[in-house]
Amino acid sequence: MKAEDMSVNSFPAQIASSGIVMGKALMMNQETLDELLSEVSDLDHFRKAIMTSKFQLQELALSRGNTEANILKFQLSLLEDAELIDPVIKSISDKETCSRAWQKRLDSMIEEFEEESDSYFKARAEDLKDLKQRVLKNLSKKNEIPPNPFERSDGPEKCIVLADEMTPSQFIETDWNQHVGIVLNKCSHNSHVAILARSYGIPMLTDLEVPLSRMTSNTPLILDGNKGRLIVDPSPQEMEEYQEIVQKFGEEKQLKETYLKNPSQTLDGERVLVKINSDSQELLNQLNPEHCDGIGLTRTEFLIQDGRLPDEEEQFQIYSQLIKWASGKPVTIRTLDAGGDKPVEGVTMDEQNPFLGFRGVRISLEFQNLFRSQLRALIRAAVLGPVQVMVPMVTVAEEIDAVKKILNEEFSKLQQKNISTEMPKLGMMVEVPLAALEIETFDVDFYSIGSNDLIQYLTATARDNPTVSHLYHANYPALWDLISRVAAHGRKTGREVSVCGDIASNTDYLEKLMKSGIRSISVSPASLADVKTFLASLSLNGCSDSMSSNSGELI
Ligand code: PEP
Ligand code: MG
Repeated sequence: MKAEDMSVNSFPAQIASSGIVMGKALMMNQETLDELLSEVSDLDHFRKAIMTSKFQLQELALSRGNTEANILKFQLSLLEDAELIDPVIKSISDKETCSRAWQKRLDSMIEEFEEESDSYFKARAEDLKDLKQRVLKNLSKKNEIPPNPFERSDGPEKCIVLADEMTPSQFIETDWNQHVGIVLNKCSHNSHVAILARSYGIPMLTDLEVPLSRMTSNTPLILDGNKGRLIVDPSPQEMEEYQEIVQKFGEEKQLKETYLKNPSQTLDGERVLVKINSDSQELLNQLNPEHCDGIGLTRTEFLIQDGRLPDEEEQFQIYSQLIKWASGKPVTIRTLDAGGDKPVEGVTMDEQNPFLGFRGVRISLEFQNLFRSQLRALIRAAVLGPVQVMVPMVTVAEEIDAVKKILNEEFSKLQQKNISTEMPKLGMMVEVPLAALEIETFDVDFYSIGSNDLIQYLTATARDNPTVSHLYHANYPALWDLISRVAAHGRKTGREVSVCGDIASNTDYLEKLMKSGIRSISVSPASLADVKTFLASLSLNGCSDSMSSNSGELI
């Protein structure tokens, strides 16, 4: 933050969920552990507390949306995990009290998670703390009257919750009509509370550079989740300034929500398909499938864990979940694009020039076992909904011919085994300049332009090399000629041409994309509302008429 931005009552903090709110400070009471410890040492008592906890979590999950249900399901699965429960049972059998046995087991697990270097796992410690507290409460039988975690707030004024920590359950059980913002000191961006705050649209700050113990309840606050600061006891001038910002912000938000809910179209009523790039199930859980036209890119390299791609059955389950989420809308799944900036141990090679080497479909055609099992999972998943298989790094038509042959072989083999099958649509990424220039040689059902790599190969500039990043941009007329060329071929042959590289999520390039004849894009979930809002204000000035009269000719 700039020095002039800071007044004496303004404290910097990290942004966990953006937005600006004003309200009175409300300190959250932290229950002390001692209040929750009981002296009972009886296995039945422990099992009953576990059952009660499961029941409470199930009830809570059923009464809320997808995001909450998924978070609570993680806790439910922990309660069914023998690795967690068995050592506790053993300690209680050895005459330890239920509370102490549970507390010790959970504390050691929390410590393990907190020591993880991966921020995702680190953040899961918060779920364990939540579970620890819930079961302790049920063991101490203090669950009959749910304690109010907040200090009393006087009057109907909106409150901003201040606390060191908050559990996901406490977040879910809070009335977010009355509580409009949240400042937590011990909380990471990946924590479930932060994920929930973003999905509820509740502005949230973490790592405030002043101890919360110096704050008092009822002090007026401004939480600026756009600049990352908390203003304590603002001056009348600051209040006025922020009131204006909040009003403007509210109007813009309302407008974006309207565009988000409706199918995307330009100001002149030209329909544009706006799909999303689904790189994480977590993100999908926060998104309503009604707000997009399906999934335009699933990078399956991100399924690799511990150097291993999930097997056919595991992939089938993952793809089925995507299809279920999309509720009948197309789901584009890209076959493994290992290599280049995504090395995979045991699959890619240690080579001098990985971006120009063994990458994408080149690997799939070499390591056919891996490729065939992925195609089988996709053929089986296609029974559940419209699946589009997309092949990365295609350079020449022979590669597509080879993929088709393998796809047909695996399809027939599955049929012979009486396994339900559906032939998915087959498409290709257009990310190698040669493929864009010779687009008419590729016989596929659809094309998707990968501008990230297309720019890299067109400019001979590695996409991940900061030394030459001044050359890596999308402002070359030659790039737009290639995009127009592919779009024109799509129109001529009646095949969808989408763009799934980063330029599609960047409002600076949307007008150019539309004017190049693109009517289908796939964007990052975070940019969906901005993209749809921008398109709604875009006039193509009859550009679509000239395109249709042009159809049949390559630009
Ligand atoms: C691209 O190249 O534009 C693309 C979408 O694929 P990736 O970024 O995964 O290479
Ligand atoms: Mg690419």
